[in-house]
Amino acid sequence: MEYKPTREFAEEMDQVDPLRQYRNDFYFPKHSNGKEAIYLCGNSLGLQPKSAKSHILAVLDDWRDLGVKGHFEGDNPFATYHEDLGAKMAKIVGAQKDEVVAMNSLTVNLHFMMVSFYNPTDTRFKVIIEKNAFPSDQYAVKSQIEFHGFDPEEALLEIEPRDGEDLIRTEDILDLISNKGQEIALIMIGGLNYYTGQAFEIEKITKAGHDMGCLVGFDLAHGAGNLELNLHDWGVDFAVWCTYKYMNSGPGGIAGCFVHERHLKRKDLKRFAGWWGHDKATRFLMDDTFVPIPSAEGWQMSNETVLSMAALKASLEIFDEVGMKALIKKSRLLTAYLEYLIESLDTNRIQIVSPKNATSRGAQLSIRVLKSDKSLFKIISEKGVIADWREPDVIRIAPAPLYNNFSDVFNFVQILKEALGV
Ligand SMILES: *Cc1c(COP(=O)(O)O)cnc(C)c1O
Repeated sequence: MEYKPTREFAEEMDQVDPLRQYRNDFYFPKHSNGKEAIYLCGNSLGLQPKSAKSHILAVLDDWRDLGVKGHFEGDNPFATYHEDLGAKMAKIVGAQKDEVVAMNSLTVNLHFMMVSFYNPTDTRFKVIIEKNAFPSDQYAVKSQIEFHGFDPEEALLEIEPRDGEDLIRTEDILDLISNKGQEIALIMIGGLNYYTGQAFEIEKITKAGHDMGCLVGFDLAHGAGNLELNLHDWGVDFAVWCTYKYMNSGPGGIAGCFVHERHLKRKDLKRFAGWWGHDKATRFLMDDTFVPIPSAEGWQMSNETVLSMAALKASLEIFDEVGMKALIKKSRLLTAYLEYLIESLDTNRIQIVSPKNATSRGAQLSIRVLKSDKSLFKIISEKGVIADWREPDVIRIAPAPLYNNFSDVFNFVQILKEALGV
């Protein structure tokens, strides 16, 4: 694609964008001047689908009209409300229907997965994580290590970029796995690093881990609904993700969880059990022996948080209509356009940290502001850009392909250009 740094070009790209109409399915926040903000923060909180409200109201109506009967009656009975969500998310992450469930929130799911898939022994107790993993993942993994009576200082192997580099090299991850594999119980990496925007090579890492007898899980908070994923075929043991980032389910929205088919019927796996993970046919017999559902649903604890699920349903219907293939195609064009425009700025004050290769990143570029404090970010924010600042010096820009367009990207770079005075 031959890009041009002009407004006309951006507008032409928008006119031929096959997904252009989906922008109208979302509400954009307003800037203080009354105009729509340039929203480039879908990696933090996705925008509200206009249909979210009616889905939530439908649940309220069923509750009002049916009371407890709403669990099994009405168009979308509460007791089975999650099933369609799991099926739709399975398509997004490249899984089989049985392997995915919508439940809880992200960090909670990460803990529950580690209950099943982090089983340290005296000789194999270490966990690989990426050095600058999202803090919640660090806390969760460290606390699991301590819970099992080990010392994170010894048990946590953090992979970091080489000196002077920002991104972690796959070869370094694979080397660590092959050198220390016998001691490693679990590899748990963020599928896409929130800070740098680097997408890890999930398939290669999984295979290398399995070759050494390790279990391999991924936190896909920034990957789900953003990257091309084939969790089933890649053989990943488990994955967890939130849905309020690229999947637009609203603040604290219900999370997703993947467990590979090969684990679904295992009787030897430890897990924390709750009644909603119990065999559906006998759940209401209220027997005191736990019989897990032989699908990812077997990890559910509690009955459905239906009001929260309704907002996710609204967004997943849009995802289902668009499909990940078309979404990723647009996403790559859009992020590459952002990269192109930033690189054409005549300045040495900013530097793109995220990978250059389209398959090594998603809909995000992290921009380092050299020799500057937060002031540049403040200026662009005042001009109507909603993006994200990460200490010490990074602005994260995420053009979400479902609702952002080429004009958003162009307008953002214009504002950045003015703010830089170039
Ligand atoms: C967003 C994010 C979280 C947030 O966790 P919650 O449990 O949803 O609050 C955790 N880990 C990563 C990698 C994230 O990107």
